[in-house]
Amino acid sequence: MKVGILGGGQLARMIALAGYPLGIRFIVLDPSVAACATTLGSHLHGDYNDETLLAELAKRSDVVTYEFENVPAKVADFLSAHTNVFPSPKALAVAQDRLIEKNFLNELEIPTAPYIEIDNFDSLQEAVLKIGYPAILKTRTQGYDGKGQSILKSPTDLKSSWQKLEGLAGILEGVVKFDREVSIIAVRSVSGEMVFYPLSENVHRGGILRVSESRKNDPMQAKAEDYVTRLMKALNYVGVLALELFEVKGQLIANEFAPRVHNSGHWTIEGAETSQFENHLRAILDLPLGSTAGVDYVTMVNFIGGKPENEEVLKIPNTHLHLYGKAPRKGRKIAHATIRAKTLEELEPLKKRLMALANEADDS
Ligand code: AMP
Repeated sequence: MKVGILGGGQLARMIALAGYPLGIRFIVLDPSVAACATTLGSHLHGDYNDETLLAELAKRSDVVTYEFENVPAKVADFLSAHTNVFPSPKALAVAQDRLIEKNFLNELEIPTAPYIEIDNFDSLQEAVLKIGYPAILKTRTQGYDGKGQSILKSPTDLKSSWQKLEGLAGILEGVVKFDREVSIIAVRSVSGEMVFYPLSENVHRGGILRVSESRKNDPMQAKAEDYVTRLMKALNYVGVLALELFEVKGQLIANEFAPRVHNSGHWTIEGAETSQFENHLRAILDLPLGSTAGVDYVTMVNFIGGKPENEEVLKIPNTHLHLYGKAPRKGRKIAHATIRAKTLEELEPLKKRLMALANEADDS
């Protein structure tokens, strides 16, 4: 079996690492010669819009998937005319535009923060009167890791926030005063089999995920599964999907979903019976899905911009280090580590050590 992947970053790399034991081989399309997944398979080097390369990718792959949601619609459509593409172009189209995404979630009665479409400065002024301060202005498309976002705390922020949009269409959202952020990683196969991982509890700073943890028997599990089931069924979804949620006073409010394997599911490599990466492959190849049961208590910590010495991380008991093979750059995710422990008491001091190393090396 050969799987084609659009994008050759760390997500593609971890998908490939999970696929090798199953005898799956990979072909990656990425414009960068230094893309970190390319050492794990064949590399088609060039632009995502290059139809000659896309046709070759389709021809040489049994199925094509991707590691980022900003794949242009016409690329996804071109590929799906030539081979199986999972998740579908429809899922991509919904996920890559925050306005379409929030409308879609609301139609499924999955609650979101209040939001209003922004297409000029006047509409921003009107919207903030309805939503109130604080509010968040985001670009409708192309935003990730907090990029293209600004918080408006008072009318004096209106002009600078508007300028940050740089002429792109936007969406103004009310700020949710959440008790915590969680995400659910769910999987649906070609045959419609569905499985759900235990909830991830996530901490972001500056719009970038820093820490994800999984705890047993989260009280919000059933509600999150209900929401993500509605979403996957409505999209006739195939693959791994991550739904990011805010918990507010015992209720869940959806922020966004990613139609791909997700950073908040990296803990599943060591912390679950089957990782999100392996289950993504099983789903798109229509193989039986693996158990998502959590093993032990786990915490995953991202290394952003810089990373500690490998030895310092590996000295911490029960810690698993994942280096992405990427050059350090400000704000860039270059590695992560996951700690596993039998009890919370055992986990806490190890987590403290790991977080201290991550914070010291942080360059975001
Ligand atoms: P996003 O790019 O939408 O995933 O946002 C990145 C992070 O910014 C989220 O994980 C939250 O920590 C924060 N954030 C985004 N939107 C909101 C909101 N409406 N209310 C509160 N926090 C938000």
